[in-house]
Amino acid sequence: MSTALIEKIKQQIKDLEVDTTPQEVGVVRSVGDGIAEIDGLSSAQMMEMVVFATTDGLSLQETLEQTDALYGLVLNLEEDVVKVVVLGETTRVKEGVRVMRTNRLLSIPVGEAIVGRVVDPLGTPIDGKGGIAMDKHMPIERVAYGVMERSGVNEPVHTGIKAIDSMIPIGRGQRELIIGDRQTGKTTIAIDTIINQKYEPKEKRPICIYVAIGQKRSKTASLMAKLEAAGAMEYTTIVATSASEASPLLFLAPFSGAAIGEYFMEQGRDVLVVFDDLSKHANAYRQMSLLLRRPPGREAYPGDIFYLHSRLLERSAKLSKELGGGSITALPIIETQEGDVSAYIPTNVISITDGQIFLDTDLFNKGIRPALDVGISVSRVGSSAQTKAMKKVAGKIRLELAQFRELEAFMQFASDLDEDTKKRIESGRKYVELLKQEQNNPIPFQKQVVAIYAANNGLFDDALVANTHKIELSFLEYMEREYTNVLSGIETGRELTDEIVEQLNKAIVGFKEAHAQFYVSDVV
Ligand code: ATP
Ligand code: MG
Repeated sequence: MSTALIEKIKQQIKDLEVDTTPQEVGVVRSVGDGIAEIDGLSSAQMMEMVVFATTDGLSLQETLEQTDALYGLVLNLEEDVVKVVVLGETTRVKEGVRVMRTNRLLSIPVGEAIVGRVVDPLGTPIDGKGGIAMDKHMPIERVAYGVMERSGVNEPVHTGIKAIDSMIPIGRGQRELIIGDRQTGKTTIAIDTIINQKYEPKEKRPICIYVAIGQKRSKTASLMAKLEAAGAMEYTTIVATSASEASPLLFLAPFSGAAIGEYFMEQGRDVLVVFDDLSKHANAYRQMSLLLRRPPGREAYPGDIFYLHSRLLERSAKLSKELGGGSITALPIIETQEGDVSAYIPTNVISITDGQIFLDTDLFNKGIRPALDVGISVSRVGSSAQTKAMKKVAGKIRLELAQFRELEAFMQFASDLDEDTKKRIESGRKYVELLKQEQNNPIPFQKQVVAIYAANNGLFDDALVANTHKIELSFLEYMEREYTNVLSGIETGRELTDEIVEQLNKAIVGFKEAHAQFYVSDVV
């Protein structure tokens, strides 16, 4: 090759290099509906953060250091412009404002101190308790861990709700959907689960992250007050967005929650994340996509809505021992319309998760709360994480309830029923009573085991259905008073040993003798 040719190629390469040098500063061409079109940022990357130079004459560094720095997120790369969503007040962006690249994909600052705080999706504290010492930036979007980096689900997350821990057990690293119509107790289940973590020993207690997506501010505030009153804010972070905020912030919120979760998971800790709720998230994404003029698909949602939610939920994981064994358990929430689980977004999320807790309006109105529809609620992986003690006692409940549901249809002809059927219906009703539970009153698993064991072994025999709840409460009090060793034995050993069973049987007899008043039946 001639030297002239080599020189020419070198020159060409140099020209190429010049062409690809990032142009760091662009200019807003137009702005509206929270979206800014920007000229001159031809080398910007998808999901890169840009910052608007709202104050003239500052360098990139100075602009970034402003306390009210206004960020944008690159979401559309088009031929001659990039479209950026404004992550904040759109009114501060005017035509002609300079925009600088940060060369950083969207990420949020996270540190240990974020626990106990309320932040927005960009990690900025909004609880008025001052700044948060940050440790590192966690990317908002990233590829989830692969199969080889994960281990099987083998440890339970106890929700403190009898019906769930016994029949729909959740494991650390699992994704369990909470689905139901408006006002059926979805949020309550998630919050009770967070509250219940206070019963876990400190070293095993998951860090909890509650992500409020487009919730009313007053709701989030009262939820926080509840967590605080229960002592649960100590290990909880709230990522809050309200209905009045711009759709891009709502869109980012669950991804921020996942990013905060990953920070702790990578230290080998367990994390529980609640996404309340992904229906509102889907709506925010739809709105944002329409504004970005992406083509609408089914029900006007953009075509990649399934991919969006699967990307998010795939990030919950149980890491292998080599990677520290941390985990993220996800409890996404979906609101249905009139119980229709076959609508677009519900079916999507059902197929991405490892099971669902289905809440039913009719049951809720009948006073069966939590309004769990046992027939169609499932947990596909959690049973391998259930404690031996719970596994032993839970089988019978499922059977009793299934039989009860079948017989329930006949109940209107009660007078024609034979003795055996009547007895079974009576027993089924007592189990339904047993599984009712007040809100914000999670029960530690060892007490659940004891109560269910006793129900299986005659505690409610000869009592009225109406007395079941009273009997359960005073039996648990009795156990705490007289048989603390049984409760602590189950808590630490997680098994029903022969010795414990013997003590339990003794306790049931002793309790019934001492509480004859519950067993005077006035049924003729
Ligand atoms: P939304 O659709 O508005 O988000 P939701 O499905 O999240 O509602 P919650 O807000 O959890 O439902 O509960 C609805 C109402 O039912 C609340 O007033 C709550 O206090 C009540 N509730 C929930 N669970 C129980 C329960 N186990 N016992 C008694 N009341 C309950
Ligand atoms: Mg709710």
